[in-house]
Amino acid sequence: MQKRIYLSPPHMSGYEMKYIQEAFETNWIAPLGPNVDAFEHELCNYVGSKYGLALSSGTAGIHLALRYLGVGPGDYVFCSSLTFAGSCNPIMYQHANPVFIDSEPESWNMSPEALEKAFAWAKKENKMPKAVIIVDLYGQSADYERLLPICKHYGVPVIEDAAEALGATYQGKKCGTFGHIGVFSFNGNKIITTSGGGMVVSDDEEAIKKMRFWSTQAREPERHYEHKEYGYNYRMSNICAGIGRGQLIALGDRIKAKKEIRKRYEEGLKDLPVKFMPVSVKGEPNYWLTVMTINEECKVNPVDIIVALEKGNIESRPVWKPMHMQPVFANCYFFSHACDEDVGTDLFARGICLPSGSAMTQEEQERVIEIIKTVF
Ligand SMILES: *Cc1c(COP(=O)(O)O)cnc(C)c1O
Repeated sequence: MQKRIYLSPPHMSGYEMKYIQEAFETNWIAPLGPNVDAFEHELCNYVGSKYGLALSSGTAGIHLALRYLGVGPGDYVFCSSLTFAGSCNPIMYQHANPVFIDSEPESWNMSPEALEKAFAWAKKENKMPKAVIIVDLYGQSADYERLLPICKHYGVPVIEDAAEALGATYQGKKCGTFGHIGVFSFNGNKIITTSGGGMVVSDDEEAIKKMRFWSTQAREPERHYEHKEYGYNYRMSNICAGIGRGQLIALGDRIKAKKEIRKRYEEGLKDLPVKFMPVSVKGEPNYWLTVMTINEECKVNPVDIIVALEKGNIESRPVWKPMHMQPVFANCYFFSHACDEDVGTDLFARGICLPSGSAMTQEEQERVIEIIKTVF
């Protein structure tokens, strides 16, 4: 059996151990410390945000952001439907109601048309959301030039789920900085990793201060343990932050490598009836995953490719199954891109995520390409 090729495995830079070593030597083995502070500063500098808060996961970040924006029992929250469950599970933690918004075909991100429809409905039904969670899917920015004015018109704040899009840009600005609060993930499969972790960023100092307070069990500044509110154990450890600092140094190289991988797939598969995720002229993705769809008239199914690759010890995945199609969210409202066009469901039926690890060699990628060609 040939060496396994994963979808997007961790890729260490070699700089991580220095920071971990420092943590050991100074005995900062805790969910706070110099690496945590430095990682927050370095990431904020990189994306151009004023304040950051390092956390145990991206999901924790979305949870804190929802609570900060006042989302509570019975409230409504709009959220991109074509995403990972981490985007919307925190809506349930707050006992609120998710309302799912379809994708547009142009970027696969939230459809401005569907968002407009949802707001018109919410206004009529007296179900105005407390927040809108906009996802930057597979490393590409949503179309904020169109989405933000709609949210602003209705006076509803935006949480930007940039978990997959660290380093991507839109109109020259980095993803994660478009909402009131931006959220990143450093899970093992993301473009950089801390093994597990996340960060929220914002220019709103009060927001970060409050979320920091909740993330450390809402401890009042007293000598004894005093609690006027309930909190969470959501902080990032100083060891993980050390990994993050070493990873951040290599982020530019990772983006370059992933862009090359996408180019080689486009070249290697150009004679097949497939299309790659469109890249908007308004920005530059981080190319986290190369994703393609099989043309409608072609009878090959994504699962045929996934099974063939698996036989060659290669991991690939379908496109995210949209949240409005998930049994757990079956009773939630959903607004499609057009009356007769559910873009997310169509992308799920025809889409496949290809192995996109930044350490994948050209020979390994050739293996992937050859197997895909045999399926058609
Ligand atoms: C990974 C991911 C999350 C969750 O991040 P974790 O750090 O795994 O909690 C949320 N949203 C999206 C779009 C993701 O891809």
